[in-house]
Formats: sequence, structure tokens, C-alpha cells
Amino acid sequence: MTQITLALTKGRILKETLPLLAAAGIEPVEDIFASRKLVFETNHRHLRLLILRGSDVATYVQFGAADIGVAGKDGLLEHQGDGYYEPLDLGIARCKLMTAVPVGAQPQKGRLRVATKFINVARQFYAEQGRQADLIKLYGAMELAPILDLAHEIVDIVDTGNTLKANGLEARETIAEISSRLIVNKAAMKTKYKEIQTVVDALAKVVAENHE
Ligand code: AMP
Repeated sequence: MTQITLALTKGRILKETLPLLAAAGIEPVEDIFASRKLVFETNHRHLRLLILRGSDVATYVQFGAADIGVAGKDGLLEHQGDGYYEPLDLGIARCKLMTAVPVGAQPQKGRLRVATKFINVARQFYAEQGRQADLIKLYGAMELAPILDLAHEIVDIVDTGNTLKANGLEARETIAEISSRLIVNKAAMKTKYKEIQTVVDALAKVVAENHE
């Protein structure tokens, strides 16, 4: 039987992905949250799940180590890889990728320093705006950068805005609307078409029903 590997993003996205999978008839045979394992069998013998960091899902799918993936659009925009299709917006883990500055900050004259985890997305955004920006890569706690004068502004994920507010920042421009997407390895889409399309169709049906 043709094996299918589905890579999931751990954390907040996983909590919203598992109910979608369950509604599509796909369930892990053990409790993912109660285990430190990274690979899980499902109720379908030919289908297994990988639990990865969001930024790694696109890499696994791009190189065919996983056939299908669930990843945030933020990670996909930043990854800038090809080798996969993006057939379905799952409509979960919605948020925005935005610029943010200290509350009331005036527009920066001269060169802008921007701290972010999303270097590629930010580079493209400021270039499109014709603004000169020096980008500083951070791996977390972006909100600290303007407070400590490391940067004038940040590019980060905003959901409720509470994190920004708690750190004296406010959102300014929306760079992208984010949600989780289904991605499929291009080669696998040909060689395992039937098995993959079955999963895509089942999830598409659940997403459509959720939107009714
Ligand atoms: P909030 O305080 O609700 O605006 O949430 C902001 C923080 O939560 C961000 O800095 C992100 O790290 C994280 N976050 C919120 N929503 C998401 C999401 N859909 N995907 C990934 N991270 C998120």
C-alpha cells in the first residue's frame, strides 16, 4: 500500500489541525499531546503524522520527506521555497503579519532599523514600499527590540494585539493575512495522486462545511 506522510506544525496550529483531521476521518492512534514522539500512526495504516516546527514543515514537504504538510502562511512566505503546491487554505490559526512601533512613534526619518524573525518577508515589504531598511534577525521576543532601541520597528505576528500592547507597542501596517495552509509535494502529487487527493478532498469538504 502506498504510504503517505503528513507533516503537522506543533503548538497552536496543531490544536486547531487535529479537530479538522478528525472531522476528515483521520485520527492518531495515541494522544499526541501526551507523548514526546515525533511520528504517529493513524487509524489509516498507510497514513502517518510527523510533528514538526512550523518553519521545518515546508522544508520536509519541499524535499519529499513528507508528502503533505500543514503550515502557517507566515512560515511559507518566509520559506520562499518551491517544490510544493498549496491547494487548500484551512482557515485556522488566523492572524496578521504586521509592522509595529512604540505607541505614538513618529515616522522614522532616515534609515529604518527593523527587527524580525521574518527577514525575507520584511525585505520584500520594505523594498516594495521603496523604503530603506536595515533588517535585524531575531528568533523571539521581538517586542523587546524597540523598547531597548535595538530597532525602530518590528515585523511580527499579531492576533489579539495583547502582546504588543503589553510591551508599549502598536500595530501599523498589515503585510499579510495569515492562516494555515495545506501543502503537497509536487512529485508526490503525481506518484501518489489517488491517496493524496483523497486527503485533500476530505479536508476541503470539512473546511467548506465549517464555513457554511
Ligand atoms: P497576540 O498577543 O494575540 O496578538 O498574539 C501575538 C503572539 O502570539 C505573536 O507574537 C505570535 O508569536 C503568537 N501567535 C498568535 N497567533 C499566531 C498564529 N496564528 N500563528 C503563530 N503564532 C501566533
